Amino acid sequence: MTPGMISDALRARVRAQAGNRCGYCLARQEYVPWVLEVEHIVPKSKGGTDDEENLWLACHSCNLFKSDQTHGRDPLTGRRVRLFNPRRQQWKRHFRWSEDGAFIIGRTACGRATVVALNLNNLVAVTVRRNWIAAGWHPPEDR
Ligand SMILES: [Zn+2]
Repeated sequence: MTPGMISDALRARVRAQAGNRCGYCLARQEYVPWVLEVEHIVPKSKGGTDDEENLWLACHSCNLFKSDQTHGRDPLTGRRVRLFNPRRQQWKRHFRWSEDGAFIIGRTACGRATVVALNLNNLVAVTVRRNWIAAGWHPPEDR
């Protein structure tokens, strides 16, 4: 992402549209000690633009693991599929929480590929979610 290309007004709008949480792991801004990032759904290196349509909010971890990926492999079928688009697609159609709320489970090829590609159940994320669960902050009621 090139800083300065996206106006503050657009950043604020994207943040509001995203409900102030990561579009992939649903980490809420008030639960993480760093500012959630405005990310390019299609990376600029793959032809993505700075248009509102291509922007969403992501936590540092998801953004870092996503990097310049647009596709991933569904671990169940081996098929290469497009990664989850948090602006166009509904989270709960493609993912669900594990029974204890600590893990994100893919429900579709797209969801499963995204869990793997973005490492959504990495050890740090799962450890943090377990503490959120203990605090009564997680999983989110609407998902
Ligand atoms: Zn995230």
